[in-house]
Amino acid sequence: MRVGVLALQGGVAEHILALRGASHKLGLACEISEVRTNEDMQNLDALILPGGESTTIQKLLEREGIFEGIADVPSIFGTCAGAILLSKSIHDAAEGQKSLGLMDLEIERNAYGRQAESFERHLETKLGKINAVFIRAPRIRSAGESVSVLAQEGKEILACEQRIGKNYYMAACFHPELSTSLFHGHFLKNSIPSSRSSP
Ligand code: GLN
Repeated sequence: MRVGVLALQGGVAEHILALRGASHKLGLACEISEVRTNEDMQNLDALILPGGESTTIQKLLEREGIFEGIADVPSIFGTCAGAILLSKSIHDAAEGQKSLGLMDLEIERNAYGRQAESFERHLETKLGKINAVFIRAPRIRSAGESVSVLAQEGKEILACEQRIGKNYYMAACFHPELSTSLFHGHFLKNSIPSSRSSP
């Protein structure tokens, strides 16, 4: 299975480590690579869009001419800024900001305050107990009916997944790569080509 991590900006190395840990635990043979060009994206089964700064990542994607090509990857996991990029609509978007619009989410940037107000929280998620790290995190304001919750606090969705035909998407407002490989494991299991082609 071929898994890429977008490596134009943001937390790349931590995702690679979490993917390695998860694939090892699952006994899945994964070829993990950093993605910077359209060529790097060819034949990927899955792609991670890391956290960082969504407006910067968008500009770099456009500069490298790979913004459009991302939608061809069948399985995508966006964390933090990556979740913003995956969403259908961005509340309070910066001027000229756009997203890939692949996941049925409305998301609000920087909804929990500034960098200095970043925090950690113990969460009981569908995948197990984790310590979730929020860094200038976005908030999911609304989600479409076919979006399933993976982690929430009260009514607030903090991580979720959506299957659209043969495509599989996952988004987290926090940074799972900093504290757990559970989310990467779930992503890999749902991105196995045979699991995608099943009805
Ligand atoms: N606030 C950032 C943005 O809007 C996201 C922060 C992060 O990825 N940790 O893109």
